[in-house]
Amino acid sequence: MSRKLDQHAAEHHAKEVHDEFNVSAFPVDPFEIAKKSGIELQEMAIAEGVSGVLMRSGHSFTIGYNTAIQNAGFQRFTVAHELGHYYLPGHPEQLFPHGDGRHESQAGFSSNNQWERQADCFGAALLMPSGLFQEALSEAGEGLPAIEYMAGLCQTSLTATAIRCATFTDDPVVVILSDGKRILYSGASEPIQSIVPKRDLWLRDTLVPPKSCTADFGKQASLLKTHQRKEGYSSLSEWIDGAPDIEMKEDAIGLGSYGRVLTVLFSEEPVPDEEDDY
Ligand SMILES: [Zn+2]
Repeated sequence: MSRKLDQHAAEHHAKEVHDEFNVSAFPVDPFEIAKKSGIELQEMAIAEGVSGVLMRSGHSFTIGYNTAIQNAGFQRFTVAHELGHYYLPGHPEQLFPHGDGRHESQAGFSSNNQWERQADCFGAALLMPSGLFQEALSEAGEGLPAIEYMAGLCQTSLTATAIRCATFTDDPVVVILSDGKRILYSGASEPIQSIVPKRDLWLRDTLVPPKSCTADFGKQASLLKTHQRKEGYSSLSEWIDGAPDIEMKEDAIGLGSYGRVLTVLFSEEPVPDEEDDY
């Protein structure tokens, strides 16, 4: 299935869960939804690189989440991701081909695996319901401050919130998750998608532009583990092959022990239409 169809299905099934449990306000509580779904929750020590686990024994499911990562937003996202494996059609069959078993997740938009990706989409849609989110986003301002405001409101991680903002905003925004060297995930708002060729997956596995402030994080391992911020400007064409040369404000923030950088590129000016000459 294509990434777009996967996202669409994730959105649809998250909406069904909202309807089933009468979710109508922020913050959405994934722990509560798990309990009401009859799923057990268990705090566990989990190997590094694993965000959480889903275990199946007969008809019983248990979500194990990692308490070593002291980040409430990430723990909530982990549980929402596992709920995706529970609620999305095809996931239980794919993850538990022999019936019982244990699935180890890599939540947080950096996995290559399509099932993990779709569970991430579900997690974001579950915690940030589209209607409520769009309403709040329209009053949130722009750039990284808007994302931080929304993350506070939804009690979600900066990364998941940033990707959600890019999905719904009418502003020209690109959100990039990287390790300071290589891009792991990217999302762009509609105004950017309309002026960039090859809309899908175009930044994945490409290198961070060497002169960008995001690249500074990749050059210093110690910086990468901090929550420091860097600001600058870079051209959209430095990030995306074939994109027009539009100056973008670049905000980069270290995500701490997670070892990732979140970059938000946005233009204070509207981007030119496709038909315009550059
Ligand atoms: Zn998973």
